[in-house]
Amino acid sequence: MNATIASYNLYCINVRCKNSVFNEIEETRIGFTEKNILEKHTCKACRRPLVSMMDIEIERTLFRAGIKLLQ
Ligand SMILES: [Zn+2]
Repeated sequence: MNATIASYNLYCINVRCKNSVFNEIEETRIGFTEKNILEKHTCKACRRPLVSMMDIEIERTLFRAGIKLLQ
């Protein structure tokens, strides 16, 4: 199988940020490239690091297990 993902979305998870997933979800769509995956992306509004849906799912699963990764 040779399926490639062209791009993915990043989200702000800062509760107090107006652009976060807790308010008006603003998606940041970026290309699925080595550079973008390794690079840190920050929210335009609050400057906190943006996370992908996969990061959120991993965080949720670990939270349920009582493990905290992201600050
Ligand atoms: Zn933000």
